[in-house]
Formats: sequence, C-alpha cells, structure tokens
Amino acid sequence: MSTPVFEQTQVTNPTYDDFTIEDLFPYEEPTDKNTRAHIVNPPMNKHIDPKQEMNPQDIVDTARLQRLELVALCGYKWVPKLNPDKLDVCPACMKIAEQLMAENGE
Ligand SMILES: [Zn+2]
Repeated sequence: MSTPVFEQTQVTNPTYDDFTIEDLFPYEEPTDKNTRAHIVNPPMNKHIDPKQEMNPQDIVDTARLQRLELVALCGYKWVPKLNPDKLDVCPACMKIAEQLMAENGE
C-alpha cells in the first residue's frame, strides 16, 4: 500500500505585515501652504498610547489609522492625514522640542 503524496503548496496570502501603512492609507497631499507639520510627544497623547510604549511615529500612525486626534507640543489638535514631509515644521512645536531636548541633554 502506497502512502498518498500530498503536494506541498505554499499559499502566500498577503498579510497586513506585507504592506506598510503608507500603502494602505496613503498620505494626502497638503493643499494649504499655511498648514504646518506639528511635533507630537508620547506624554501628551496618552489617549492614544495609555501605556506610553509607542514612539512618536507609532502614535501618529495609530492616530491616522483610527482617526484619532493628536495633541501637538504647541497644543494644536488635529487628526493626521496629510503628508508631513511636504509641510514646514510648526515653529512653536520646534521651539518646544528644542527646549525638551536641551532639558534631556540631547
Ligand atoms: Zn505645532
């Protein structure tokens, strides 16, 4: 009696891990030149990351995916959807970020 031979076929279903968030949720191009890219830090966004385990990029990505409001260093609140690479950084956020870095000795 011969044993049946099963063909080894590998099913490669694309999983979520095969895509970046950029592929799934591409950034919108900013249309307003006055829009600024704001800087976030984890302590001000505990509503997104209660355990304070994420880095700022993860927090922004989570906010984009779940349509949550972010709080910027300058206090500005918004739901991220624009491409921050195409925006100038908010001067108020930059100033606060520099102060924080100076306090941390970076
Ligand atoms: Zn700002």
